[in-house]
Amino acid sequence: MKQKIALITGGSRGLGRNTALQLASKGVDVILTFHSRAADARAVVAEIEQHGARAAALQLDTGDSAGFAAFAEQLRELLQSHWQRYQFDYLVNNAGIGIHTPFAETSEAQFDQLMNIHFKGVFFLTQRLLPLIADGGRIVNLSSGLARFSLPGYSAYAAMKGAIEVLSRYMARELGPRGIAVNVVAPGAIETDFGDGLVRDNKEVNDFIASQTALGRVGLPDDIGGVIAALLSEENRWINAQRIEASGGMFL
Ligand code: NDP
Repeated sequence: MKQKIALITGGSRGLGRNTALQLASKGVDVILTFHSRAADARAVVAEIEQHGARAAALQLDTGDSAGFAAFAEQLRELLQSHWQRYQFDYLVNNAGIGIHTPFAETSEAQFDQLMNIHFKGVFFLTQRLLPLIADGGRIVNLSSGLARFSLPGYSAYAAMKGAIEVLSRYMARELGPRGIAVNVVAPGAIETDFGDGLVRDNKEVNDFIASQTALGRVGLPDDIGGVIAALLSEENRWINAQRIEASGGMFL
């Protein structure tokens, strides 16, 4: 079978990094993007290469759609120079930031930043990359448990994630004729740098989430990367237009 190549946005840390490593361990080559942390991205590339898969990293601001044309061109050149290919197989729209602020105090600037990264960026980056995604490929978009249940302080963020879930169904519908399946993975609260590491570093928050989770603890990056890698496996090719929540059973 042809070597599979995945593009993961925000692969320098957290869930994107874990997904990159888990895909690589299954023999998938990885192109990951980073925003500002080039050294972290290089470290992930080196780790993947140690495991025998091929990898590369590109800089990308997913909140700036004006840069997407140039990024697509860079990606095209990379695919040709590293892989002698014109297309990649799997797109994981993972990059993101957390802003925790009450609905009443959310500024337009915060709203726009979240909108650009979490919704507009995913919409137009995917649109721009369509010619570079192979027929029969797959897309996984990251949502959040917060699109199903609510916690104060996430109104704008969670609403964008809700939009991603609707968009994913439309992508699945319109890309189906090319054999491209599109699914959503919605993690519960996971211990990463996300939102200044709140879930990981604040014991009160961590304990509260664990108490509201059927499996009795907060999630770890390892709980998510494997779900995304499994969704992209050949065995799961018939899963399409689904929202898979991986939260250990939060707020049931
Ligand atoms: P992290 O903060 O650990 O990592 C964020 C990643 O996104 C980094 O690779 C970062 O790059 C990249 N990134 C941030 N801003 C931009 C930008 N403007 N353009 C391009 N890349 C950017 O977050 P997580 O791994 O926890 O989150 C990953 C995804 O999972 C997000 O979509 C998030 O909303 C979602 N999620 C996370 C949950 C959690 O509890 N952690 C729960 C539910 C969903 P760099 O390293 O260069 O800064």
